[in-house]
Amino acid sequence: MLAREKTEGLVIRQADFSESSRVVTFFTRDFGKISVLAKGAKRLKGAFEAGLDLLTRCQIVFLHKSTNSLDILTEAKLVSRFRANSRDVNVHYAGLYVAELLNSCSEQFDPDPTWYDAAVITLDRLQQGSDYRIEVLRFELLTLQVLGLLPEFEHCQCGQPVGDDQQQWSVWIQQGVLLCPQCRRTESSNRPLTGAVLTLLRDIVETPYDQELTRCLQDTHRKVVRPLVTALISQVLDHRPRMLSYLQL
Ligand SMILES: [Zn+2]
Repeated sequence: MLAREKTEGLVIRQADFSESSRVVTFFTRDFGKISVLAKGAKRLKGAFEAGLDLLTRCQIVFLHKSTNSLDILTEAKLVSRFRANSRDVNVHYAGLYVAELLNSCSEQFDPDPTWYDAAVITLDRLQQGSDYRIEVLRFELLTLQVLGLLPEFEHCQCGQPVGDDQQQWSVWIQQGVLLCPQCRRTESSNRPLTGAVLTLLRDIVETPYDQELTRCLQDTHRKVVRPLVTALISQVLDHRPRMLSYLQL
């Protein structure tokens, strides 16, 4: 049985399949991650109008098979390409990191339009010259939220709310929970989090994704937030994300 499906998607991975064909993995708005055979995609002129480079956003039509064999891409119309205009190579790497997170953290045919829209917004903002460090952080936090693995930044498990004092809180990475100084455990993250940092994280998470943040990421906060978020993402992936070896955050 074949079903002809239509959706919009971002190219998040490519692999050669034969002399002329590729297997392209898309993160789509309506079906989540899908891998499709793109016949003729490697030919000089290409069988698909959109090109299918990494992070290309296109309208696609594919034949979904009910058996285990690969789905087949039949149409790909270009919506936009990701072009990091900045001379800063980190902007390009940030785009690739978005693709890596989508590919590593999503399941085939498990759609999440919020996550898709956030990825599109992130790539747009990166191209428009927004601070890549902020954009990466927002997308990482949203990814953790989508997966249900984002810690609460409001109160400890014991109920104590976060105050605006200098108390040193921590996150127990393996459990993804915030702990107050009294509940602190030896295995929780060792960089202390103050009320100011936790309020910043909460503000970022609570700001609707299509709205600009009203706050910036100061270096003092970044130095605490970065190891925490890298540890949380690495815990999800079971390894440190590959792109974080290149991307300077
Ligand atoms: Zn507590």
